[in-house]
Amino acid sequence: MSAAKSRARQRAAQKIADIQQALAAMQYLASGTLLKRTKVCGNPSCRCAQDPAARHGPYYEWSYLQDGRLRHRSLTPQQAELMRQAIANYRKARELLRTWKAHTQRLIELDTSE
Ligand SMILES: [Zn+2]
Repeated sequence: MSAAKSRARQRAAQKIADIQQALAAMQYLASGTLLKRTKVCGNPSCRCAQDPAARHGPYYEWSYLQDGRLRHRSLTPQQAELMRQAIANYRKARELLRTWKAHTQRLIELDTSE
């Protein structure tokens, strides 16, 4: 293997090691979407009836697919914060996996080309 190829191989291998480390650092992982809502209670004398800033909540709802069906679950603010991180991790993990695949292809080409 030429010196240039050897360096390219080392770079790709290092990228994969970085990806593995980034994935290993993740604890929470979730797909789906998180919605933050406020509500009007319907009582005409309540402040929420006039003032949008006085609406009740926020309420958090997590929507996700399970066995091909869309499901919804309400979350506390604390759960919602963790879920927000878990969903961000999932997006990042998918991006990392795509990059891992690209570097794998590169490595296989380098290792098997003349
Ligand atoms: Zn109200």
